[in-house]
Amino acid sequence: MDKMALWSGRHTTMASNSKPCLYLHRQDLRLEDNPALTAAIDSGRPVIPVFVWAPEEQGDWSPGAASRWWLHHSLSRLAEAYKKLNVELLFFKGKTAEVVDRLIAENDVEAVYWNRRYEPAAVEHDKQLKQSLKDREIEVHSFNGALLCEPWEVETQQGDPYQVFTPFWKSVRQKIKPGKPLNAPKEMQSAKIKVKSCQLDDFGLLPKLDWADAFTDTWTPGEEGAREKLSEFIKNGIDDYKEQRDFPAGRGTSRLSPHLHLGEISPTQVWHAVEVHLNRKRKNDGQPGADSYLSEIGWREFGYHILYHFPKTTDKALKSNFEGFPWKYSKKNLRQWQKGNTGYPIVDAGMRELWETGWMHNRVRMIVGSFLTKDLLLSWKKGAQWFWDTLVDADLANNTLGWQWVAGSGADAAPYFRIFNPILQAERYDPKGEYVRRWVPELADLPDKWIHKPWEAPDEVLEKAGVTLGETYPEPMVDHFEARDAALGIYKKIK
Ligand SMILES: Cc1cc2nc3c(=O)[nH]c(=O)nc-3n(C[C@H](O)[C@H](O)[C@H](O)COP(=O)(O)OP(=O)(O)OC[C@H]3O[C@@H](n4cnc5c(N)ncnc54)[C@H](O)[C@@H]3O)c2cc1C
Repeated sequence: MDKMALWSGRHTTMASNSKPCLYLHRQDLRLEDNPALTAAIDSGRPVIPVFVWAPEEQGDWSPGAASRWWLHHSLSRLAEAYKKLNVELLFFKGKTAEVVDRLIAENDVEAVYWNRRYEPAAVEHDKQLKQSLKDREIEVHSFNGALLCEPWEVETQQGDPYQVFTPFWKSVRQKIKPGKPLNAPKEMQSAKIKVKSCQLDDFGLLPKLDWADAFTDTWTPGEEGAREKLSEFIKNGIDDYKEQRDFPAGRGTSRLSPHLHLGEISPTQVWHAVEVHLNRKRKNDGQPGADSYLSEIGWREFGYHILYHFPKTTDKALKSNFEGFPWKYSKKNLRQWQKGNTGYPIVDAGMRELWETGWMHNRVRMIVGSFLTKDLLLSWKKGAQWFWDTLVDADLANNTLGWQWVAGSGADAAPYFRIFNPILQAERYDPKGEYVRRWVPELADLPDKWIHKPWEAPDEVLEKAGVTLGETYPEPMVDHFEARDAALGIYKKIK
């Protein structure tokens, strides 16, 4: 009998018996460079790969609507990949611990494998599950499948978690040497399962209405889509990344964020691909682009470091002086921002790109975030919640970091007096108005000079472009300069 999963390039050890083991997929929806799956196969046991849909175990931050769309398609591709290995990916709904217990009891499972998670509710959940399995003498093996450096692996000289990016990243770069990614299994030994699982469709992850239609044209969820996106970016984008990354009209960034979030690709794979690219090129060629790109991967690591060590930051400001900040809740203002009807073209373009595609360029995330928190004085949490529901890359670590950064209340945050001017930002990063014209087509015929400030355009220019402010496109909902002064007044008091 061919008892073993063949594992190219790795040594495999045979277990003395053939009781199966479980491998729980969570935010690691890939076969390549997957340490928990590798170890499960290497143990010589038949592997039962499982995905349990248990959104309530993620507390207040269960996946939003756009993430669910992505998850559905990603799981579907993963199941196909397993099928090619003659293995079934099993789907279950309900409490993970109960599903695991059933599988253990009915299939004589003797070990459970997973890659670790770092979100507060997930950490707590996994800790309890691990303990309960150990108490019953079931082997548990957990691995790092998501980060270059786990949150506890680096600390300041005082032994504290980092709160500033530059020394954090310096320390990580000194410590880590990402190796070659693990190969995907070429064969796997499957187990005979005695438990009835459910279908992916039973999770009900796809939207009932058709708001996600454009997602299908924009994205290819799954491991293969992630690999293609990475190699396309390495081929055509990375060398110019440093110069191009801030211009939302172009394709200057990798768009790997949703793939990284669900672990369809690992940061080790990204790192390795960048190194291979640099080795192929002449010395120093392309280095600034690659360094700049890897440091963004570093911001992702930083986000996880902060979230793990300061788990309350998902809901509370990291800087305690922000706790009593007098945010001004207005349902109407929030709605106008969400719908991309603020009257500031760059803000509206970003919010509409988000709604249509489930993604927004980083520069524009900062602009719309600054507008929400400083021009409208709406709490960063309202922004974080909306992004959570609408982003296909919604990621608790990066979203929390991003929003607290924008508001000035988080780690290494923008200083309180840094208030983005939406007109200047737009003129600098969208000089020809291409991005605005794409997402706010009612302004498409305005000349470049007025595209980012239509309210200043002469009447005849507006008329010629078919724009009637207040009718075809909104008047600015606030005066940026007045709003800025009001925000500065409040920020000065709490600093
Ligand atoms: C208010 C706000 C909210 C955000 N919410 C999220 C979120 O929910 N999920 C998310 O993945 N990113 C978030 N970001 C960070 C950033 O905007 C996205 O990661 C980036 O735009 C994704 O596009 P990309 O893959 O083309 O990035 P690239 O520029 O190609 O960067 C490569 C990867 O590095 C990581 N990265 C890049 N920039 C950052 C950053 N500033 N912080 C942390 N990681 C980064 C991402 O994993 C990204 O895929 C947020 C930023 C802001 C300002």
